[in-house]
Amino acid sequence: MQRRGFVAQVLAGGVLWGSSAEGLGQQSAAPGKPPGSARLAEVVIERPLTGKPHSGKVLAAIQPHADDIPFFAAGTVAKLVSEGYTGHLIKTTNDDKAGSGTMGETILNNERDTDAVAKALGLGKVFTLGYRNHEMDGISRQEMRERLIFLIRLLKIDTIVCYDPWGTYEENPDHYVTAQVVESACWMAGMDKDYPEQLAAGLQPHSVQEKYYFARGPQLVNRIVDIAPWINIKVEANLANKTQGGAGENGARLKSRLAAQNLRLPILGNDDDTANREYIKHIFLDYDSRYLRGVPSDREVGRRYGLEWAEAFHYIGPIESKLDRYIAEHAVPM
Ligand SMILES: [Zn+2]
Repeated sequence: MQRRGFVAQVLAGGVLWGSSAEGLGQQSAAPGKPPGSARLAEVVIERPLTGKPHSGKVLAAIQPHADDIPFFAAGTVAKLVSEGYTGHLIKTTNDDKAGSGTMGETILNNERDTDAVAKALGLGKVFTLGYRNHEMDGISRQEMRERLIFLIRLLKIDTIVCYDPWGTYEENPDHYVTAQVVESACWMAGMDKDYPEQLAAGLQPHSVQEKYYFARGPQLVNRIVDIAPWINIKVEANLANKTQGGAGENGARLKSRLAAQNLRLPILGNDDDTANREYIKHIFLDYDSRYLRGVPSDREVGRRYGLEWAEAFHYIGPIESKLDRYIAEHAVPM
């Protein structure tokens, strides 16, 4: 993950994140005059739910690298799991170029971090597809799609959290290739003529019903998720990423560097564990988020909607047919 500065613009109704403009919520079109052919959508605030309303449903958090879900969507994943989802983690690359040590050590360290991320978020199985880091634009997308369709059918995945295939100005091929292949696999998994050998082996067609897409660049945002009750779990997931990314144990490193200059930041506390957690919460996810993550602070996103902490998504859910209602209201005896 590389940093980049992003902000948001309000598109009449939906929110387009990421532009060269500074600040959140700037108008990109006159009121009542949507710009160009932009698709309009209302922004829905997804709040904490009581009980286990998602019990029986299956979630897959899909990321190219060990740090993507922790950076951008860990609060939402933790929320959905706590509300009843059975969750799994799918990582599409082997992370062989992100972190210190030899290539082999880097892969192993990221593998261990990924397991720790899954544990922090309450996710069960972890699948690593193992494509080479930074090289996913050279893979067979059809092969990857077939593997994902297999997993969607096997695990009966109802909901996914992943990069937005329609997010723009994304520079990392692992991010946009993963997103695009996931998008196609989600609906194709529900067809009854795709990969019939999987069906012959006992799997059933199974479509993904809900998608939460996050992005580092311009993106249509139509859902803001209140993650305040899960912010410390998001911190935990980012703390687990010690090999790559801007979180991990950087708080303790900063504390040590300042101590060598006979300085300290009170916010970092008095021990390394506190320094790591407070750094992630207050510097990484908030104060220096644009520099370290390339997106607005989670606290800043929340503040615009009256929330303490929030994550932003392009959400795509099921659309119910209105035909039965039309028939009930208009059908007459022959
Ligand atoms: Zn990444």
